[in-house]
Amino acid sequence: MNKSIRNILYLVNKYNKNHSKKFIYKGMFFDLKHSNKNKIDTGYIYIKNYKSFKKYLKDILKKDIIYKLNYWSKIMNLEYSKVYIRSSKYVWGSCSSKRNLNFSIRLISIPDNILDYIIIHELSHLLYFNHNKKFWNHVSKYYPNYKRARDILIIYQFLIFKNKIWNNIFRI
Ligand SMILES: [Zn+2]
Repeated sequence: MNKSIRNILYLVNKYNKNHSKKFIYKGMFFDLKHSNKNKIDTGYIYIKNYKSFKKYLKDILKKDIIYKLNYWSKIMNLEYSKVYIRSSKYVWGSCSSKRNLNFSIRLISIPDNILDYIIIHELSHLLYFNHNKKFWNHVSKYYPNYKRARDILIIYQFLIFKNKIWNNIFRI
């Protein structure tokens, strides 16, 4: 971990003290309100219970991811099989030998442009199984600023680990 990331994590930790009760949705912080229906509105997220909220987030994320996969797989000329949204806490995404793509529910918290990096990363694994030089060259063709995206993901990983709502979701 480089020095600038360490500095950022220090600030994130301080910031989290006031924001750990908020939910991080697509790079923004929302206050939660209890409701009989799950809903994302301006400024607030309404939640029925954690179980239904988890399903609600998975459905939104799956739509977003399929939309982006359709776009990028055409540009990159790559074909994938199935898409799964997993409850993985430690992995953002993965690609299986059957050409299935797995994505973590946590991706609902990251900004839209960073989600593009994840999509390009996983699609590139259809060509290169390892994180070797050829793999990163391929990623950089479609996402030149991938190193910055990786740094931002470290920050989001940290934000999510410290977030009370995410911890409740992972407990289900
Ligand atoms: Zn990878």
